[in-house]
Amino acid sequence: MTHTFVLSDDTVLCRQMPDGWWPLQVQLSPDSNDLNEQAYQVGHVTLHESLAPSHWLPNDNGNTDNTPDGLVHTDTEAFNTFTAQATSAMTYDHAVTHNVTLPVITESGSNAFVPYRQLMTHLPVALSDQISQAIQLLSWQADTQFCSRCASPTVHANQGERAMVCPVCRLRQYPRVQPCVITAITRPNPMTGEMQILLAHHHRHGQPTMSPMYGLIAGFVEVGESLEHAVVREVAEEVHISVSDIRYVSSQPWPFPSNLMLGFHASYASGDIIIQEDELAHADFFDLSNLPKIPPKGSIAHELIAQVMREQGMPL
Ligand SMILES: [Zn+2]
Repeated sequence: MTHTFVLSDDTVLCRQMPDGWWPLQVQLSPDSNDLNEQAYQVGHVTLHESLAPSHWLPNDNGNTDNTPDGLVHTDTEAFNTFTAQATSAMTYDHAVTHNVTLPVITESGSNAFVPYRQLMTHLPVALSDQISQAIQLLSWQADTQFCSRCASPTVHANQGERAMVCPVCRLRQYPRVQPCVITAITRPNPMTGEMQILLAHHHRHGQPTMSPMYGLIAGFVEVGESLEHAVVREVAEEVHISVSDIRYVSSQPWPFPSNLMLGFHASYASGDIIIQEDELAHADFFDLSNLPKIPPKGSIAHELIAQVMREQGMPL
């Protein structure tokens, strides 16, 4: 018996549990098992196994959780050992066309399509990585039905290879990942010596409110650029300072549309903050003991800030 996630664009079919919405792993009946054996069908993709993450630490302190696998375990276990069991993902339309038995979905029921952005704040990392993978592969499939060079209809490469091949000009189109760098910049407070972190309020986070959200400096890696160069360039462009001691911390797939966020830590080197007004409303160094509202748990920005706090012996 195999299981599949069911998605519709950036939303995932979920069940409401005591601690929030969880992605449903819908059983494929024996009749629909041939879905897994056929090499390729638009709207249905096989997934890599989700790996239990050792690179992100749990932020909570051992509260118990009921998870969809029916087991009760602590947050620590959930974050460090959780692996998703679904071997594939399909679109809702594909599920309906192929008579996959779906749970009842009603507006007032306990099953619903929930935006992935809303889910990621509480899912274990391995599960959110797998949902992220599903969203990206399904949209890649939908976007590569035709050759981007000669516009002929494409066919799927041999079983086991994720590529769309043009039968006319032989162009191969693979799923693409767009690397983005995101950086936690720290320095000691010049007056008190307390460690500070640079945070910025982006226009994309909306108008400043009573408690505006502050995030880290981030941006796309450009063609021909190293990751370290991208960090230096983005920081200079957005806040006009220079940094040193750049080191890689961890990464996160981010399927909007198909990014890989690469998280770095850097030390402030020199310069006064001058913000790039097109992108930022405000940026400053904040004492770790007095942070503004920051991005939610489940985001790499949160994890990078939490890691700086842990290094200073201050749990977030
Ligand atoms: Zn072609």
